[in-house]
Amino acid sequence: MRSAFPFVVACAALLGAAPTASAAGADKLYVLDCGHIAAADQSRWSPGVNVGVPIQLSDNCYLIHHPQGWFLWDTGMADAIAARPDGVKALNGALTLTRTKTLAGQLAELGLKPADLKAMAISHTHPDHVGNVELFPQVMLYVQKAEYEWPAEGGGPRFDPKHPVTLLEGDRDVFGDGSVVIIATPGHTPGHQSLLVRLPKTGALVLSGDAVHFKDNWDNRRVPPFNISKEQSAASMQRIADLLAKEHAQLWINHDKPQTDAQKRPPEFYE
Ligand SMILES: [Zn+2]
Repeated sequence: MRSAFPFVVACAALLGAAPTASAAGADKLYVLDCGHIAAADQSRWSPGVNVGVPIQLSDNCYLIHHPQGWFLWDTGMADAIAARPDGVKALNGALTLTRTKTLAGQLAELGLKPADLKAMAISHTHPDHVGNVELFPQVMLYVQKAEYEWPAEGGGPRFDPKHPVTLLEGDRDVFGDGSVVIIATPGHTPGHQSLLVRLPKTGALVLSGDAVHFKDNWDNRRVPPFNISKEQSAASMQRIADLLAKEHAQLWINHDKPQTDAQKRPPEFYE
């Protein structure tokens, strides 16, 4: 429970703070294009609803600047997919994954090398989120212990054992000032996590990870059948809903393409 106390303190402190008072915290957030998913059947995520209806999903990474350094949330699908104009098929052809830009290229456009990052975290270990973790072999990775120790298909580890890692058992205030807080939201996978970000002008927002995949599923609290726990998934969605209300925060749903399409892209950023 080591991380629960600072989180509570941070929230209490920030609730009493003026919106412009967090000058020392995270000050820039870039929404990076980390891939595109075309699916033939939306009901893979919404059981019984829109059966056989195709859906397009965005796949984002989020780059956050903090005075202590750069922080990357999720790494998207593998950059190598960008070399395949027709993309790659996944899940027996149910999904087509494409990438028009690499993560490395988007960092370079911002003048950054992978080694310039201070820390990173992934929402969970599905391939559309961990595709480029080893682009950053020296960068500290924050991941839930339950996710790290979850055996991969085939029984092996989900991460290169040499990668520096901080194993979490709950929430973590990454920079100690409440501006970037990892929130444990298990259910999609055993150690799924979301991210609360507090920006000086934009205000508070929650990056969903895959606690929900698109707005209609959020509005109806639908749980995809392949989540590892329906009960944990429902509880995590409620936890996020409570956090949104308490923080007056926006919910940014990683895979919701209409929402993503309306967001700023580099060189523009949120501050
Ligand atoms: Zn995903």
